[in-house]
Amino acid sequence: MAVEMTGKFIQKESPKSFSHSEMAEAVLETLTLPAVVSKDECIYCFESPYNEPLALNASPKHSLNICLNCFQATCNRHVPLHTRVTEYACDTIHSNYLTIAKVEKPKQENVEENNNNKKIKLQVIETSEDDTHNTIWSLQRFNGENVPRTVLLKSTDPDISSTALEKIEKILKAKSQDFEDKKNSWVLEISTCPHTENFQIPSKPENTVNLNQCSSCDLTQNLWLCLHCGNIGCGREQIGIDGHS
Ligand SMILES: [Zn+2]
Ligand SMILES: [Zn+2]
Ligand SMILES: [Zn+2]
Ligand SMILES: [Zn+2]
Ligand SMILES: [Zn+2]
Repeated sequence: MAVEMTGKFIQKESPKSFSHSEMAEAVLETLTLPAVVSKDECIYCFESPYNEPLALNASPKHSLNICLNCFQATCNRHVPLHTRVTEYACDTIHSNYLTIAKVEKPKQENVEENNNNKKIKLQVIETSEDDTHNTIWSLQRFNGENVPRTVLLKSTDPDISSTALEKIEKILKAKSQDFEDKKNSWVLEISTCPHTENFQIPSKPENTVNLNQCSSCDLTQNLWLCLHCGNIGCGREQIGIDGHS
């Protein structure tokens, strides 16, 4: 019995070639970091990563998942949506996330205390732009809807390599987009078009779209509907003349 179990154990272990931390290294190694990262609100619902001070051993209620493909943040509820949307719109499935939770420090806690007692936590504090909050993070792989995510690396791990830590710190320290910027860059990233830049919401709802005339001039024939923004423009541009579609 004991022999058989040992045999099974070895068999099960041998095909595994990479540990989670090695997988994390591989993910981080290939990352090209943008100057600006969205990490304040879910791009779909405004969920924030900020938490009140935690009770002992409690886990944070609020967290965000920074997509390591497009560096947009989504809440836990919207990670499946994000992977579905990007699977259609992009070449790669967005499945790796840096999950962050910002936890307000208890009032009496100070840096000196951390210096003496918790070396790992101190690193985390240094990565936070915010003196009033600790950032708890983990590198997670999304495996599909209703399947648990794989935690590849987390801020409380004892032996994070300096290269991995450096990359993660860069993401945490990167300039943060406010929500409006974030929304615009997301729109621009997947569907840039000149019409969206000066797009205005029509003031008279009953007159919103005239399907029979160019939105910018009087032409009523050879009209083109922009599939990005719904603009109707004349087709002169499509044959090389200055037009409006
Ligand atoms: Zn959300
Ligand atoms: Zn993404
Ligand atoms: Zn367009
Ligand atoms: Zn357009
Ligand atoms: Zn026109």
